[in-house]
Amino acid sequence: ASGGRDIRDVAVVGAGLSGCLMAVLLARRGYRVRVFERRPDPRLGAGDEGRSINLGLSQRGINALRHAGLLDRVLAHAAPMRGRVVHLPDGDLGYHPYGTSDDQILRSVLRHDLNVVLLDAAESAGVALRFDARLADLDKADGAVTLRFEDGAVVEAGTVIGADGAFSTVRARMQRGEPADYHQEFLPWGYKELSIAAGAPGDRRADPESLHVWPADGGLVVAHPNADRSLTGTIFLPLTGPGGFDALRTPDAVRAMITARFPDLTGLVPDVVEQFLSQPTGHLVTVRTAPWHWRGRVVLLGDACHAVYPFYGQGMNSAFEDCVILDGCLDRNAADHAAAFAEYQAIRKADTDVLADLSAANFVELRDRLSSPLFLARKKADLALNRLLGRRWVPLYTMISHTTTPYAEALRRSRRQNATLAWLACATAAAGTLLIHRLSRQGK
Ligand code: FAD
Repeated sequence: ASGGRDIRDVAVVGAGLSGCLMAVLLARRGYRVRVFERRPDPRLGAGDEGRSINLGLSQRGINALRHAGLLDRVLAHAAPMRGRVVHLPDGDLGYHPYGTSDDQILRSVLRHDLNVVLLDAAESAGVALRFDARLADLDKADGAVTLRFEDGAVVEAGTVIGADGAFSTVRARMQRGEPADYHQEFLPWGYKELSIAAGAPGDRRADPESLHVWPADGGLVVAHPNADRSLTGTIFLPLTGPGGFDALRTPDAVRAMITARFPDLTGLVPDVVEQFLSQPTGHLVTVRTAPWHWRGRVVLLGDACHAVYPFYGQGMNSAFEDCVILDGCLDRNAADHAAAFAEYQAIRKADTDVLADLSAANFVELRDRLSSPLFLARKKADLALNRLLGRRWVPLYTMISHTTTPYAEALRRSRRQNATLAWLACATAAAGTLLIHRLSRQGK
């Protein structure tokens, strides 16, 4: 205890991805853990419509699940993604393998399945779960934190973990009255989910072991495979303007847009128009904020402190990585949560700020560059150099998705590699010019 309620008496707000994983890790430390979630229990069949249905799990997430002893249970529900199939606007297909070795594959898993594995694991670790409990307010005090729920319930805890997503109530209440930075940026694009039925065996247009991307002028579709060989697609479009969601309200308008921008989707998804018109439109937000904690009593995890656009597939992976890093900080500062939380933010914030930039940049890459021959040649060259030089040349994408190199370090390394490549190219060109000059002087 630290002059009040025991700091090992923890309330986690949000039973999404990071909240459940952190609850498991804290329960294993012997903490008393209660989790409060505004939704009903997803294990009882309630849907989660409109939220990305499946997610790409990469090395950071895999590492965190392994750390919690849950990897095998999650992989039992996952589909491998060995590369990217690009559906070009002219109907051609391109394929880019993810890496140079077999362990460089991503896994696609349903958010629901993942959440269920995590909730079951939390419960078996002794965590008390409360659903239909929406946090409305939080009173900070040095000795304890008081949580007030919308149904009138009041709960006291020694420590509060805010894992309540991009629009976190814990964050807002924790930072109220404190010197704090908060920056929220909405992308002027939104998204809708599309279900794509399993294709015929061997049909590369619906290959169940690849991520699929349809880059288009003014639009983008990304689809992940499911374990039953179907795909779940997400269509990203501007929210307003011609060809944006606001203008696409009739079957004719939607059909014309799909045929013009994503011609092979109509064959793959016969009811694409009906699906489009019946799905809600989701919004995408980047959040940068500080501080992430308050006096050793409150700390934030995942989207609550660093929501990013989904275009690098790292939101969940980085949220899981937060849990491992915070767990390590608690190892080193078991009796001093203020020190643990300060160390966690100091280690982590610069990395997640870089991730926010990379995620925004990858939007442009997926949308505009995937169909550019020059860009594709550069990607191939990156992989070839990696094959040739091994660990001395690792493409940025590989470092982000297939390693746990901190995000900021990965970016620095990639810039150094690019500078070396530019230097080598200049040196080679200079040597070539010198040679031509000498040969011409010798009259050869
Ligand atoms: P969440 O998983 O959002 O959990 C927050 C929980 O808090 C929810 O259960 C919510 O109901 C609950 N809650 C909120 N407010 C309250 C309250 N007041 N009281 C009680 N409970 C509350 N990431 C990847 O790594 N790979 C991907 O492929 C990927 N694809 C994506 C595709 C799309 C279209 C989108 C939108 C996101 C994608 N992400 C992906 C990002 C990923 O979904 C998030 O980063 C991840 O869910 C963050 O986990 P979290 O635990 O911080 O928050």
